[in-house]
Amino acid sequence: MALDVKAARSVVLEHCLEIDPERLDRENLSLLYCLGRVIAEPIVLDQDQPPFDRSMRDGYALKAHDVDRVPATLKCRGEIKAGDWPSLDLQEGETFQIMTGAPVPAGADAVVMVEYTEQPRPEVVTILRPVRRGENIAPQGSEHKAGSFMFGEGALLSAFQLAVLASLGKSSVKVFRQPRVAILATGDELVDIQVVPDGGQIRNSNSYSLYAQVLREGGIPTILEIARDNPADLRRQISSGMQHDVLLMSGGVSMGKYDLVEPVLSELGVQVHFESVNMRPGKPTVFATQGDRFVFGLPGNPVSTFVAFELFVRPVLRRLQGLECASLRLITGILDDEVVEKSGRTAFLPARVFSESGRNIVSTVAWKGSADIFGAAKANGFLIVPLDASHLVPGREVEALLFDEFEFGVGGTF
Ligand code: AMP
Ligand code: MG
Repeated sequence: MALDVKAARSVVLEHCLEIDPERLDRENLSLLYCLGRVIAEPIVLDQDQPPFDRSMRDGYALKAHDVDRVPATLKCRGEIKAGDWPSLDLQEGETFQIMTGAPVPAGADAVVMVEYTEQPRPEVVTILRPVRRGENIAPQGSEHKAGSFMFGEGALLSAFQLAVLASLGKSSVKVFRQPRVAILATGDELVDIQVVPDGGQIRNSNSYSLYAQVLREGGIPTILEIARDNPADLRRQISSGMQHDVLLMSGGVSMGKYDLVEPVLSELGVQVHFESVNMRPGKPTVFATQGDRFVFGLPGNPVSTFVAFELFVRPVLRRLQGLECASLRLITGILDDEVVEKSGRTAFLPARVFSESGRNIVSTVAWKGSADIFGAAKANGFLIVPLDASHLVPGREVEALLFDEFEFGVGGTF
């Protein structure tokens, strides 16, 4: 019996949550390779930020009350550059020239910007504007205190986080290992992409969309040789795919005489948790496990494979590298056109999602069904047509599943 999409996702998520993050493999990686990886250690500040009272401007450090009345003339005791450590305290009526990022000398309580000063002679400075106490100084620890928690296990490392790690002197970081994913296309009709298809043959495109989807989710994909529709070939290729953390198969899971994936999985002792989901496209999706290995029999049709990956495979790849796994790239928006879904299944219809006058608009693209990657390639997401709302009218709020964050069509100049 076909499971509802939510029920099928729950089954996958339950298996994901059985993975104990403590037992996931970790590796030490040079900071230079950490972008997009998931950190596996807590990051705590080793010192106050800033570590000293820091001047925020190029100017003059002084006592604010010395320049209550301006112009005021102060005695210049010298210069403090970024990287210097001031050895003298500032006394009444004195100033130090100071640069952005330099430590403010003891005794000073404000910095006047150089723009509001004149220095007629090296030893004398005229201040033209008063300042408030504390102005243009970032006091020690005012941004963050030593011992503050920055981020911990399960955080996806972005450029900013790499900057934090660099500031802490971490040239290498403990990260979760990337899941290894085998990709196995099945079908007698498939040829490699460098081959010109003969009558009845088609090129294997699924291995390449899956390869990209795995990469995008942080996995290490390996494309296996196409398995032919006979038990011996499938057995051999599935066994080799099961050496990986995750095996993704496509094709061979429908009701046809040569759809042999499921019997071979059973024969190999792989536990099948579901084999059909009440969705369009993507109905014949198989989810199975063996020990700590995950196996997916994805439908052969390219758009079906793509959707099934997003709904069911993505959470597994996320969990295997220590990430939160339940969330989807969902966005709400206003439907642009009328949609009537007659299949009686939850539908995922290729759509363009874009932002217009501060609102997200979801507009379905012309698409001829689950084999039509050419139509689907115009989309950047799927309109979700829920089971209980199969007739959607324009202007209605709907949900869409985005292919990826970067394809939203966000653009513009500033
Ligand atoms: P199947 O589930 O094996 O019957 O496949 C369903 C449809 O998807 C058939 O039209 C297949 O030719 C097509 N198909 C299966 N595998 C692939 C693939 N790797 N690349 C492109 N199309 C495929
Ligand atoms: Mg087939």
